[in-house]
Amino acid sequence: MIVTFPHMGNVYVLVKTLFDEMGVEYIIPPKCNKRTLELGTKYAPEMACLPLKINIGNFIESIEQGADTIIITGGCGPCRFGYYAEMHKEILAGLGYNVEIITLEVNEKGIPELLCRLKRMIGGRSVSSLALPMYKAMRIQTAADKLEELSFRIRPREIRKGSTDAIMQKYFDTVKTVYGAKAIAHLIEETRNLLLSTEIDKDYAPIKIGIVGEIYTLIEPFTNLDIEKMLGNMGVEVNRSLYISHWIKEHIILGGLHMRKKQPFEREAEPYLKTAIGGHAQETLGNTVLYAKQHYDGAIQIYPLTCMPEIVAGSIMPSVTKDYDIPVLTLVMDEITGEAGYITRIDAFVDMLRRRRQIKEANNELVLSGH
Ligand code: SF4
Repeated sequence: MIVTFPHMGNVYVLVKTLFDEMGVEYIIPPKCNKRTLELGTKYAPEMACLPLKINIGNFIESIEQGADTIIITGGCGPCRFGYYAEMHKEILAGLGYNVEIITLEVNEKGIPELLCRLKRMIGGRSVSSLALPMYKAMRIQTAADKLEELSFRIRPREIRKGSTDAIMQKYFDTVKTVYGAKAIAHLIEETRNLLLSTEIDKDYAPIKIGIVGEIYTLIEPFTNLDIEKMLGNMGVEVNRSLYISHWIKEHIILGGLHMRKKQPFEREAEPYLKTAIGGHAQETLGNTVLYAKQHYDGAIQIYPLTCMPEIVAGSIMPSVTKDYDIPVLTLVMDEITGEAGYITRIDAFVDMLRRRRQIKEANNELVLSGH
């Protein structure tokens, strides 16, 4: 059995750790690229969500390298995520690929049922033997997410331009080649120390932008033009509202154990959108409010074309903007996204936020001087 899985930002760090620790043979799909997207666009229905199309491309590229089993996540709606697993199965079967597909989803039966599904992957071993690898993989993913978060703070302040990019690129290149939780943890710690020793301008107060939207486009750099890196290199501090480790903790672990508590974003989203409508619509609205309350200069909402929950959130967003005086730029991504046009819009948004901040600071100075 050679297992593969779809890409979604740095999630391969978690899956790699898990499979290394379980002794499962696996293939990491090639980094999402133009061909991945072309394959997905060719074989998925035209109106399917962009993440589904890219997943199909990932699977085909891994099957070409020898993968015979696919791990995918599933869900139960209410948006099209509920159909993902079945669609993947039908598309791949229709193309004649003879692969086994294991769907990971936490249904009403909770975590025990999820572990039983994984049992097919671990052969004769007990389900409890999965506990330690899973625990280690979760710890690694949390550290990997924190590392990226740290890079978002260092990049806009670095003195020597490109130093954060170089450190992070080396980490991304190396992490695929090291084996096991211990070695990956060591690499993350080493990279963290390199970031912390980067020379920075301590007095620089960057523009701060919160990134909200649909989780896949938020996390997968191929679909969001590597926006965090782009903004960081423009001197902007970025905060991403969703991370894989957080999503797994909330939805798989606490959700599976029926121990999930109401999150701050849910409270903030309530006046605007009371019901969960699938995807991350409530997160998008609630986190934008939270960013405004934390005095962020602006927010960027990113989502794939035709993403129903984000279209709903986007239609409510003008009320949040008005109530909390926070500018929001919306970027809708699809397979023909033209990079140049998006960069111009992002550039203009950052310029506007800078001017806005200057005006605010000038007004504050006037008030302080009694004029
Ligand atoms: S959240 Fe949006 S992109 Fe994701 S499955 Fe649902 S509709 Fe598609």
